[in-house]
Amino acid sequence: MQVPLLTDALLNGCDDSFIDHASLERPVHSALVPAWHQLVAAARTAGFDPVIASGFRSYQRQLTIWNDKAAGTRAVLDASGQPLDVTALDDWQLVQAILRWSALPGASRHHWGTDIDVYDRAAVDQSYAVRLTPDEVVDDGPFGAFHRWLDARIEGGESFGFFRPYAADRGGVAPERWHLSYAPMAAYYQRQLTESRLLAALDSPALALRDCVQAHWPEIFARYIWVDAELYPLECRARVLAAGATL
Ligand SMILES: [Zn+2]
Repeated sequence: MQVPLLTDALLNGCDDSFIDHASLERPVHSALVPAWHQLVAAARTAGFDPVIASGFRSYQRQLTIWNDKAAGTRAVLDASGQPLDVTALDDWQLVQAILRWSALPGASRHHWGTDIDVYDRAAVDQSYAVRLTPDEVVDDGPFGAFHRWLDARIEGGESFGFFRPYAADRGGVAPERWHLSYAPMAAYYQRQLTESRLLAALDSPALALRDCVQAHWPEIFARYIWVDAELYPLECRARVLAAGATL
């Protein structure tokens, strides 16, 4: 398969050329659609009804979330999901607190359309408002059974290319059991999202806390943005490992 060359705009959520806005309940990368149908079909035979709560997200949308959190007009949560008093934090503490649950604008995997947040509609009634919080996805939470089933599929290589980039706490992004990534395509995006290329794309006066982000850039990239190739399904790892290479 030929490696698609991706522009900054495609990597950073400023170009939705590859996004399918119509086929599924949320906009996603067009390459993901057939795999999602396969996963849904398999899940339904097991009694689940997977739904995408969030798919493609634009740069502008992520910028609004980030800037609202930096300004204190949107809640910043601690590691356990409780609101933090942001007035007690210095800039670097605030940046880390935001990054725990929210990606930097330009660096979200949701910009690619290859990553989705999912839940099991069969587990809740129609009036239930999905929050995508840790208590919903623990083993005895409403979506725990679905995620245990997904774990087994992923482990068995039967998840149609979907994997969990944020399954475990690695000192950066909080564990997000609801977040799935379509590895065969996401690997290409991640490979081209180099540290220097992304730093240049972030050099925008519209980005709150920009100076602090730039000052801590290598650490932010390693802890909060880069997903280790070993977390990808075996057959996709080589695509990620060429990171930093000139394509
Ligand atoms: Zn997500």
